[in-house]
Amino acid sequence: MSRYRLGVLTGDGIGPEIVPAAVRVVDAALAAAGADRIDWQVLPLGASAIAEHGSALPATTVEALAELDGWLLGPHDSAAYPEPFRSQLNPSGAIRKHFDLYANIRPARGVGGGRAIAPDTDLVIVRENTEGFYADRNTYAGTGEFMPTPDVAIAMGVFTRPAIERIARTAFELARRRRKKLTIVHKANVLQLTSGLFKRICLEVAETYPDVDVDDVHIDAMTVHLLRRASSFDVVVTENMFGDILSELAGELAGSLGIAPSINASDDRCMAQASHGSAPDIAGTGQANPVAMILSAGMLMHWLGTRHGDARAADAALRIEDGVRAAVRGGISTRDLGGTASTDGFTDAVVEWIAARS
Ligand code: ATP
Repeated sequence: MSRYRLGVLTGDGIGPEIVPAAVRVVDAALAAAGADRIDWQVLPLGASAIAEHGSALPATTVEALAELDGWLLGPHDSAAYPEPFRSQLNPSGAIRKHFDLYANIRPARGVGGGRAIAPDTDLVIVRENTEGFYADRNTYAGTGEFMPTPDVAIAMGVFTRPAIERIARTAFELARRRRKKLTIVHKANVLQLTSGLFKRICLEVAETYPDVDVDDVHIDAMTVHLLRRASSFDVVVTENMFGDILSELAGELAGSLGIAPSINASDDRCMAQASHGSAPDIAGTGQANPVAMILSAGMLMHWLGTRHGDARAADAALRIEDGVRAAVRGGISTRDLGGTASTDGFTDAVVEWIAARS
């Protein structure tokens, strides 16, 4: 595999600032690694897609994605969409569900810059992405939230053996390539059937990974452990909603939400997506930190390298990570990390560092 076809879905808020930044850095890293250029395909998604195509996630976008090796997804501000779009499953949830992107891999690792609460954090949250307590994606038709009367609302959590087994295996395989330590996060003491099934099946899978140290922690206790000793965690596996919340906490502890990357992957597709939202409060000001989106794109390069046995893509992934760290170490960072660089200024520094090491 040499020339990849990747989608670019810019999204809302700061998306039009940070997604093009990630494209520039990927292009620079592949050039430096001596790899073929990417065939980028820009596809509509988000508020601009509602205006132009009558849908936040047009069917033509989904059809085009099916033909690609992967894609970069910018953040969306679906809470600001007009009805009926606001009540629909949001675009990233819909894409994850459609392509069964069951593993959301969210590393929390500092890049330097001096503002981190827990700068030694180096952990990865492996979040189950297709079921759990996020009721909006738990049903074939309609949503798992319903309102029998104006004053009663009910949400449905779903936990199934196949989904838990595959996310547990993903997490154990990752732990094997890291520090061989895995923490199962759940709430089985209260939610004995649902969260209990999650814990029990993860522990079953653990028996086939005797080389990995396993422990399990309640979600409420985990927030305290992260605050007190984030650096003692390696890989954390958990259900959908717990993983979403914990990864924002871990990302902020490691430095800033603006540096927290992620991929959403199935066995044959991968979507790079920053862990943070669309940050409408700073959109258009040039203050957005592009690091999370750039590192997410780097994770996509690593995923492509592993899937296709492509050493150049894997090399490009390393160059992206090194370039980001070098820029921050060299004193260039955006406001959220305590610096003064603009989104473009920071991206220029990363691209220059990478290009200088071709
Ligand atoms: P969502 O529900 O879509 O995840 P959210 O409500 O969690 O969104 P974010 O959009 O992630 O909120 O923003 C939370 C805070 O973090 C805001 O103050 C925002 O400006 C800041 N923030 C988020 N991403 C970045 C970034 N890339 N660079 C700088 N600041 C950011």
